[in-house]
Amino acid sequence: MTDSRFASLPLHPDLLGALARLGYEQMTPIQAAALPPALLGRDLIARAQTGSGKTAAFALTLLTQLNPRHFGVQSLVLCPTRELADQVATEIRRLAAASDNIKVVTLCGGVPLRGQLATLEHGAHVVVGTPGRVLDHLQRQSLQLDGLRTLVLDEADRMLDMGFADDIAAVVRACPAQRQTLLFSATYPDDIAKLSARILRDPLSVEVAAAPQAGRIEQRWYQVTEKERLHTVGRLLMHLRPASTMAFCNTKAQCNDLVDVLRAQGIGALALHGDLEQRDRDQVLVRFANRSCPVLVATDVAARGLDIPSLAAVINVDTTPDAEVHVHRIGRTGRAGEDGLALNLASLEEMGRVGRIEQLSGQEAVWHPLDSLKDSGQGPLLAPMSTLHIQGGRKEKIRAGDVLGALTADLGYTREQVGKISINDWSTYVALERSIAAEATRRLAGTRIKGRSVKVRLIGDLEVSDNAGP
Ligand code: AMP
Repeated sequence: MTDSRFASLPLHPDLLGALARLGYEQMTPIQAAALPPALLGRDLIARAQTGSGKTAAFALTLLTQLNPRHFGVQSLVLCPTRELADQVATEIRRLAAASDNIKVVTLCGGVPLRGQLATLEHGAHVVVGTPGRVLDHLQRQSLQLDGLRTLVLDEADRMLDMGFADDIAAVVRACPAQRQTLLFSATYPDDIAKLSARILRDPLSVEVAAAPQAGRIEQRWYQVTEKERLHTVGRLLMHLRPASTMAFCNTKAQCNDLVDVLRAQGIGALALHGDLEQRDRDQVLVRFANRSCPVLVATDVAARGLDIPSLAAVINVDTTPDAEVHVHRIGRTGRAGEDGLALNLASLEEMGRVGRIEQLSGQEAVWHPLDSLKDSGQGPLLAPMSTLHIQGGRKEKIRAGDVLGALTADLGYTREQVGKISINDWSTYVALERSIAAEATRRLAGTRIKGRSVKVRLIGDLEVSDNAGP
């Protein structure tokens, strides 16, 4: 067995001391995979999620490469949000506590510039920030990166989702070519592969097998007749009210029928299947991912390769004939250390399939009575957000910061009322708190973004039945 104690690594005694004080003895799997090559200076692509110990993995690397006697920024960590930047800075400070006077500063949007300018004048070894604000400082020349040794992109997938691709590219251009780059991402979609190819040099990919998930996913089985099946999906949702659910059907026709039944019950749902045009498919996925739709109804083929973060629940509307497909479906819940819930419907005719799933997973099906499902009485199951569409995207040089600025600085909404901003070549999608969405759309239509008036519209709200629920 390999030694996974921190003491087995070539770390400075001060860092080992800090680790001991924090009670970190054994490396987590991502640390054990990433640290040995990273400490040797290799570029890395690391697939790791929150809770994996990824922060300490890159913090120990950048602290090892740093020369405290040299003043000037030697490490830069880019994060998607201020909250994450604060957490990362705290973890770096904790690990650096026993080392010589190492200064860590955060540079994030939404914080007055003046204080940041003053802090930077006093010198910093490590900068942790959001891409837009870091770029702002580079352009003002209040930040220089000539002495940079380590560049870290934390939660790179989320940064791209938030429309930071261009800002990241501009920041990277300001970094010296001779540097170590570490990219951390929970998922690995195409745009991350492209970004990695551009900014990393001969990177090593490290990925740790997902923690054994079977135990974390609670599976509940319900026996239904064909007549009850679709209506039961609605009852499950109304009873449990999960924040995000994927419901899997074996056929396209079943997907469409289920969406109709759910909407009639007052549940926001969208279908994802092979008949959709690419543009509609993109739109469905954006709306599901940005929390404008609580339930996505999909066939296995349409869901193949989808990189969707952890779901609160997965519903197997039809039992699949392929037991491996079942395991794959339910693996979409209970990720990132959260508890998952898989709700499975099966008719008498499907019991053979249930048996094969039991054999493959080594888990006996636990059956629950349908009459345990009570409507929680909280009314329709709607998403917290709605999606605004702006005609214009990357090709018009629209950036997430421009949109956020128009909504917050110009129109006076708070950062919290604005959710995910997704930008593709020709379109921008903005998640807005449902209660302000219609008004914000109207007001935004009268303003300018990047000096130009823009065409905006609220994407057809999910037409759920008004008279559903109490
Ligand atoms: P992260 O994935 O970076 O958000 O870290 C998750 C949590 O694990 C943080 O609270 C860390 O302080 C903690 N942590 C990181 N590495 C270790 C370790 N080797 N042993 C114990 N706790 C750790």
